[in-house]
Amino acid sequence: MNDQQLLRYSRHILLDEIGIEGQHKLLAASALVIGAGGLGSPAALYLASAGLGRITLVDDDDVDLTNLQRQILHTTARVGQPKAESGRDALLQLNPEIEVIALRERADDARLSELVSGATVVLDCSDNFATRHAVNRACVAHKVPLVSGAVIRFDGQISVFDTRRDDSPCYSCLFPQDGKFEDVACSTMGVFAPLVGVIGAMQAAEALKLVMGVGTSLAGRLLLLDGREMEWTSIALARNPACPLCAATRA
Ligand SMILES: [Zn+2]
Repeated sequence: MNDQQLLRYSRHILLDEIGIEGQHKLLAASALVIGAGGLGSPAALYLASAGLGRITLVDDDDVDLTNLQRQILHTTARVGQPKAESGRDALLQLNPEIEVIALRERADDARLSELVSGATVVLDCSDNFATRHAVNRACVAHKVPLVSGAVIRFDGQISVFDTRRDDSPCYSCLFPQDGKFEDVACSTMGVFAPLVGVIGAMQAAEALKLVMGVGTSLAGRLLLLDGREMEWTSIALARNPACPLCAATRA
């Protein structure tokens, strides 16, 4: 690290749990962020500010006026631009020392497999079950830890699915791929803006911890946030030994 980097990251380097060694791990890491919307915005901003070396932002949508209430990567001046590119501009303005790859696409299974295989950690900041399952499939196949978040109305949730560990469930252990879960979209149900900030920032925190090996991750725990009462509930998650997706890949 040069002098500018030592200054930029000094408040992390001061932490015993991080130090120079942890900062080097961040600079050498690659994070895949699926979705540059409400969750992806704060998540990617904190990954960038913390010096995570390479961030790949995937989103096939364009910035819309209705996004700006909560999607803090984007600006009024960038309405109509691709979200991935608007996000890249915001992240590089914050930290020009990192690499940001903007992909304006909706990645299918083959593409996700390719993208996940090169990632140190994956953040699912998408808004639908089809994408969440596709991201999980790729993460299970390549044993890359997945930080999963979701917010609707005044409710949020976050967990980590780390199939490098034999005791950690995958997303499908919790929500079976053939389950009857209906997507509820922000466009119809509404969403309380700061909640995506809370959950997205926590996704960044878990991702940074996983990269540096700091503390204990949320693997095996689901946190639920009731934003009306501002109360958290922690639920223990076990592996489903019969999970059709991950059972065969693990002991
Ligand atoms: Zn599973």
